[in-house]
Amino acid sequence: MKVYVRALGCRLNYAEMDALARALAANGHVVTDSPDEAEQIVLNTCAVTQDAVHSSRKLTRQLHKAAPEAAITLTGCYAQLAPAVASGLPGVISVAGNQEKDALAGRWEPAGDFDLEPLQRAARVARTRAFIKVQDGCDNACTFCITTVARGEGRSRPADAIVAEIGLLTALGCREAVLTGVHLGSYGLDEGRGHQLAALIRRILDETDVPRLRLSSLEPWDLTPEFFDLWRDDRLCPHLHLPLQSGCDATLRRMARRTSQAAFCDLLAAARGRMPDPAITTDVIAGFPGETEAEFEESLAFIARQGFAGMHIFRYSPRAGTPAARMRGAVDEAVKQDRSDRLHALAAESQAAYARRWLGRELPVLWEQVAGATEDGFLNVGYTPNYLRAACVHNAALSHTVSRARLDSYDEDAGQVRVTPLLDDGPPAQGAGNG
Ligand code: SF4
Repeated sequence: MKVYVRALGCRLNYAEMDALARALAANGHVVTDSPDEAEQIVLNTCAVTQDAVHSSRKLTRQLHKAAPEAAITLTGCYAQLAPAVASGLPGVISVAGNQEKDALAGRWEPAGDFDLEPLQRAARVARTRAFIKVQDGCDNACTFCITTVARGEGRSRPADAIVAEIGLLTALGCREAVLTGVHLGSYGLDEGRGHQLAALIRRILDETDVPRLRLSSLEPWDLTPEFFDLWRDDRLCPHLHLPLQSGCDATLRRMARRTSQAAFCDLLAAARGRMPDPAITTDVIAGFPGETEAEFEESLAFIARQGFAGMHIFRYSPRAGTPAARMRGAVDEAVKQDRSDRLHALAAESQAAYARRWLGRELPVLWEQVAGATEDGFLNVGYTPNYLRAACVHNAALSHTVSRARLDSYDEDAGQVRVTPLLDDGPPAQGAGNG
């Protein structure tokens, strides 16, 4: 069977579709790069904002247009929240809720291509940088959040399965594993064993040879200063994504966020005390119900003082079924847009300031893709451990390799650093560490 899998939204959605692609490939199915060759299509949808819902529906229609004969299975948060509407979209023959997703590969009988071992088949779809699902669901109740509604209670994957998966992917050529979940920091809580993420990270670093390990979004209240001792191992990427959502305590209280200006500052100080200038990135919502101009100004000033290396900014999107959607004090769309624009301007400044602190220094870059070619060579793009996007023009395609590079200049328009790869002779060695 020829199958095309696609994800929208968060890294967890991508991790789930990567795992599905590997399982289908291991079962002898052909995972296609484009929908028009496919007999079956699986789309992992998103519903975090109204825009994401629109994108999920729009992409479903586009996939049907590209492959009118293909049978589409919709899964993910939009499919979970609106199964009836989702099943009415063109080409959709089935809708699978979030709880059914991990068993999707079993829907199709193993087939075809048995001249290769399952491992070799899975290798065909393995990535340079792999997203690894660690846990699902969330037991918090941030008032704006629909994810906790769509994904259900927090549940952790067995550590043995995670360590084995990363070991397998490293053997298949993966250079960086990214741990992801809905509420990653809550790993282990559902099993009554307290916070177990640090123990899991230690096992991964001790029991696998993965060259780079990165953590995706972490809720600030799950972390203690001791958590940052893990970064004594330089395979752990010095990059923390800590969603703040607002820099104003009054707004944070209405969001039911279990953090505050003071607690967030203490956490950043603890992280910076244990890692040399880590990249700290965040998420911020503009225009949350009841957000006055004074609250926004306070938030903006607080955010400016944190020196974030990157920010994702969202205009507040009311989601039916969340407490915030019933709150009074809705912020006018034009005001929301203005606040979002001011946050974007601050984000660009803050990101540039962080990147410029690293110019002139040498860092290893994991080259991920060739973004084009010029008469001078291939335009290679990749990331440093502290999540600086790096670009260089070189006579070799460097994808799937790691090489040291000197950081020369910052391209503000592209939001990336221009670098010179330090290659003694020809293309770099495969899988060089962070050191
Ligand atoms: S911690 Fe809050 S924002 Fe994050 S998934 Fe849970 S409820 Fe949503």
